[in-house]
Amino acid sequence: MNDLPAHEQALTCSDVRKSYTEGGLSVDVLNGVTLEVQAGARIAIIGASGSGKSTLLHILGGLDQPSSGEVRIGGRDLASLVERERSALRNRELGFIYQFHHLLPEFSALENVAMPLLIGGQAPGPAREVAQSILARVGLGDRLSHKPGELSGGERQRAAIARAMVGKPRCLLADEPTGNLDRRIADEVFALLLELNEEARTALVAVTHDIQLASRMDRVFELIDGTLKPRDQT
Ligand code: ADP
Ligand code: MG
Repeated sequence: MNDLPAHEQALTCSDVRKSYTEGGLSVDVLNGVTLEVQAGARIAIIGASGSGKSTLLHILGGLDQPSSGEVRIGGRDLASLVERERSALRNRELGFIYQFHHLLPEFSALENVAMPLLIGGQAPGPAREVAQSILARVGLGDRLSHKPGELSGGERQRAAIARAMVGKPRCLLADEPTGNLDRRIADEVFALLLELNEEARTALVAVTHDIQLASRMDRVFELIDGTLKPRDQT
């Protein structure tokens, strides 16, 4: 660990371990993961299916707890918080993007994107204004009242990105964000993520199968045998 001030570190984890017990058998998924995500950093995590990438992202995002080890978001130790504080911290500091958009089907794009702000306690009027401007930024300015079912796959993922970014999070955690898209649309969506990362200085931690996309990040790690190995980018 280096000694950057806490505000320069979006997210850190140290010696994180995770085991699952299934039918009396204990399976070690993470065997000591240490990672430092500095403000604005771009990190890709690759690894075989079942290697623990989603497990790691869930733990980094405070959605799951490690068996041991420490996770800090914006300098705060997640284990020191009660669940209510942890979800408030998640809402304020993190954005999540998944392979499938997870937008709420019965709500419009605008309502979906405004939702995290409303949950965070903002008034509806200003929340809608912010949601509208970020939707315009991701190219959906003319799709505000469309429901997820009325959007294309790429548009849905753009809306999901807008929802993840609407609260100006310190760090975006993305699990196979382009895994469900055609090559050309995947490239566009990934390019959008990188642009937003630069504009807002939001750190980006993305799990991807796509080596070509991973190579556009600052650092690439491979999750093997439960630990992160840096990969040479040549
Ligand atoms: P990846 O995202 O790299 O494909 P996952 O993190 O989803 O891998 O899963 C890693 C391993 O942990 C797999 O062997 C999976 O079966 C196991 N696992 C994940 N979640 C659970 C759970 N809730 N209970 C038991 N085992 C789990
Ligand atoms: Mg996964």
